[in-house]
Amino acid sequence: MSYQPGNRQLPGSVYRCRSVIQTFCMDPNLAGKKILLLEAGHKKVMDRVPGTYSTRVSSISPGSAALLSGIGAWEHITRMRYKPYKRMQVWDACSDALITFDKEDLLDEMAYIVENDIVVAAITRQLDALPENVQVKYKSKVVKYTWPTPHHAAESVPWVKVTLANGETLQTKLLIGADGPNSMVRQKLGIPTVKWNYDQSALVAVLRLSESTENNVAWQRFLPTGPIAMLPLSDTESSLVWSTGHRLAEELLELDEESFVDAVNSAFWSNENQSDLIETAGALFRGALSAIMPSAGSPRQLPPSVAGIGPKSRVMFPLGIGHASEYIRHRVALIGDAAHRVHPLAGQGANLGFGDVACLTQLLSQAAFNGKDLGAIQYLLEYETERQRHNLPMMTAIDLMKRLYSTNAAPVVLLRTFGLQATNMLPTLKEQIMAYASK
Ligand SMILES: Cc1cc2nc3c(=O)[nH]c(=O)nc-3n(C[C@H](O)[C@H](O)[C@H](O)COP(=O)(O)OP(=O)(O)OC[C@H]3O[C@@H](n4cnc5c(N)ncnc54)[C@H](O)[C@@H]3O)c2cc1C
Repeated sequence: MSYQPGNRQLPGSVYRCRSVIQTFCMDPNLAGKKILLLEAGHKKVMDRVPGTYSTRVSSISPGSAALLSGIGAWEHITRMRYKPYKRMQVWDACSDALITFDKEDLLDEMAYIVENDIVVAAITRQLDALPENVQVKYKSKVVKYTWPTPHHAAESVPWVKVTLANGETLQTKLLIGADGPNSMVRQKLGIPTVKWNYDQSALVAVLRLSESTENNVAWQRFLPTGPIAMLPLSDTESSLVWSTGHRLAEELLELDEESFVDAVNSAFWSNENQSDLIETAGALFRGALSAIMPSAGSPRQLPPSVAGIGPKSRVMFPLGIGHASEYIRHRVALIGDAAHRVHPLAGQGANLGFGDVACLTQLLSQAAFNGKDLGAIQYLLEYETERQRHNLPMMTAIDLMKRLYSTNAAPVVLLRTFGLQATNMLPTLKEQIMAYASK
């Protein structure tokens, strides 16, 4: 199938997300559909895994790994580069409170740290092997959308029309908007969105550890200025995601390597934010809990110390939250950050997007099996309901955590200290949290 400039009809669907295309093609009900991915950026080919780690990584949940495995991309990822972790320790800089998550005595993997470039390269490799009914157009920026009008309108437009920057136009029965947090699809549809910018930016870097370790723990410490996370990449390297006030982030960006490493180590190790009052109250509460549940809770581990940073430069990203009140419209569905954007403190942004992909694919497969139009509102509505039910509580919890930990006011610190310690003693609750986050 060749594409030429002009008003060309595509009797299939236009899609914008690599993983959607792949999952579609693996589904027998959807296999023959014409699918087109429009990507504004250029094709990213990775012939060899680079010698150095990228600063952009994601914690990929088992649910997302299963989705990627179903489309054959996970195999490429495991062959290229990834790092599973078996435990997560989250602790408060203002008290001794901590919570740990792990699976059955560290036998199972909790999640995987994968460089974003590797995820994209793995999916791209699979896309290249797809049959002709699936096409990808790189360097194809959409500049205009024309939405379908009802049948009774004077000039009825049944499908979604897309105009590219080069003037080419295409039509589709279903447009999937996977165009990120500033989604043009969402904006042009006028979908109301609750969103605001956080007072924080995330600074990312590759960290060189002082010594080689098994490095299978993800560490996150809540400082009053924001959370700092160290995510394993290899036995000797970890990825840093440090969310903090914009000005401090800029200052950290400018520091020489030695001062930056000192700042990172101090952020993980210093007790300057702790007070005797909180420490005593926390110890008493922990003692009382241990008396009731002697074997519950897990011991505190110490994070590795950092000796240097990788050759790739430090980068910072302003953080925000956003949620589209509607994920669908007639012949349109939003997925990923186009529908929801979260703070990186729970490592859930991309995972929520993969969850959208899995859900939408399953419902569109049903529509195809039942001989229905893929843009049929009944199935799209089901997608919206199912995903909002999952995404909204997760987003609310993440935002609440961000707020709860953004202060060192004693009453709030006491409250969260008791809450964190109690949760750490309740294995069933922790299992439920893990199950929810690993979808
Ligand atoms: C510091 C940081 C750490 C994070 N860590 C994690 C983590 O550990 N785990 C996790 O799950 N998530 C994490 N996230 C979140 C995750 O990165 C995002 O949720 C994810 O990248 C969103 O993917 P997306 O495909 O929806 O949007 P995007 O990645 O923004 O992709 C949008 C795509 O649409 C294309 N596009 C946009 N407009 C057009 C147009 N007009 N025409 C054609 N193409 C267009 C763009 O070129 C782009 O390729 C983190 C985020 C940050 C900032």
